[in-house]
Amino acid sequence: MSLVLYNTLTRQKETFVPLHKNDVGLYTCGPTVYDFVHIGNLRAFVFDDLLRRYLAYRGYHVTHVMNITDVGHLVSEADTGEDKMEKGARREGKSAWEIAESYTNAFLEDSKALNLLAPDIMPRATAHIPDQIALIQRLEEKGYTYRTSDGVYFDTSRFPHYGRLGHLNIEGQSSDVRKRMGGEKRQPADFALWKFSPTGATRQMEWGSPWGKGFPGWHIECSAMSMRYLGETFDIHCGGVDHIPVHHTNEIAQSEAATGKPFVRTWCHNEFLLVDGGKMAKSLGNTYTLRDIIARGFSPMALRYLFLGAHYRSKLNFTWQALGDAGRALDSIVDLLRLLLDRSGESSESVGISRSLTERFTEALDDDLNTPEVLAAIHTAIAEIYRLEERHQPIDGRLLSAAFFDLDKVLGLNLAATTSTSPVLLPEAIRALVEARERARTAQDFATADQLRRELLRHGFTVDDTAEGPKVKRSSHQSD
Ligand code: AMP
Ligand code: ZN
Repeated sequence: MSLVLYNTLTRQKETFVPLHKNDVGLYTCGPTVYDFVHIGNLRAFVFDDLLRRYLAYRGYHVTHVMNITDVGHLVSEADTGEDKMEKGARREGKSAWEIAESYTNAFLEDSKALNLLAPDIMPRATAHIPDQIALIQRLEEKGYTYRTSDGVYFDTSRFPHYGRLGHLNIEGQSSDVRKRMGGEKRQPADFALWKFSPTGATRQMEWGSPWGKGFPGWHIECSAMSMRYLGETFDIHCGGVDHIPVHHTNEIAQSEAATGKPFVRTWCHNEFLLVDGGKMAKSLGNTYTLRDIIARGFSPMALRYLFLGAHYRSKLNFTWQALGDAGRALDSIVDLLRLLLDRSGESSESVGISRSLTERFTEALDDDLNTPEVLAAIHTAIAEIYRLEERHQPIDGRLLSAAFFDLDKVLGLNLAATTSTSPVLLPEAIRALVEARERARTAQDFATADQLRRELLRHGFTVDDTAEGPKVKRSSHQSD
């Protein structure tokens, strides 16, 4: 069996064959660091991490590059509006550079908490301005660019396959759209390669260039940095589906126009995370971050488990209920692993369960990373192990736990660490509530103690007061 991936470019599942023997070049679009990333972005990054881990599990040597967008991503996809970095800076009364640094660090903390492997290379757009200028110059020499009063643009009419990735009907964009578009762009799909700083004003982030002072357009950074680190043609490029019609379409156009070679062989796109059945929006107050998840008493691994429960090409609906269910399902795996640490029998049944778990695992992931099927296989194995336990039959705990830990190299649920810390790994916010309740009880302030108990329950935890102190457990249902 070999790994099969769905390629957005060809709209079909294809057997994955790397360009260079055993080496895989993987580029994944990273965050724009003007704010905390939200759980939708995290779904994309967990998918990238899963793909990378599975490629490594299958024996490939992966070079994973993820960019940090710290300049040039404008509020509007149409190359207008404020730079998100400067918007973030204004919101917080800091410089754009400070904002970039603090939210890059926050992203790295979130990545660690979610057990995302650190990319091999994490280039920042602001640290690669000369590469971007050089690429624009190549395009200019080949006649793919034109100037307007506010920048240098890519002329999409010069690139015959423009829009192929998204099956875009560019021709169909009527002259009406063109008229409404206003400005000096020749075609609606044309996009900025370089934007000039506004006349009479100094931007916080700006650089000199052959065309005038300004900053790179958003798309050019991913072409320049991916090709710098992975070559002009490389294996896999990932991102969310929202990037298909604009960002990735433009990356292909400018890269292939410059080099005359195919840019990326396989494009993998994750579907969106919805919240309460709809879009996440600041105005709806539902753009949750990992910090919100932790503050509500859930572990980042519960979120990771929730993501794995849906195929990456299906939409996934986030609710607090679903997150609670995911946390409990994960706890049931950890409970089983604790049992396994205690069992040392030898049995052919154990060998059979372990073998079929590993087989189902590889078969499912080979089939375009079918993680829901992997989780189903895990829970089948758990049920079979408990059946042995009920019948007092020998269980080879070492063999079986080794099989689970092996799968976890790909799933990244941190099973080994969680299993060895007992009994329940409490998030900081919950621990603080439990301690506050203990202090209230000691001071005989039972009203406060009761109120804190209810607060814990709202977060999905119950407390039993025992002779050895409070015992905290996840409740079987979340009250909200
Ligand atoms: P951005 O910082 O906007 O470039 O987004 C970083 C990554 O998150 C990109 O790959 C986006 O496609 C992806 N993304 C953004 N919103 C969502 C969402 N709601 N669900 C899944 N992926 C998303
Ligand atoms: Zn990108």
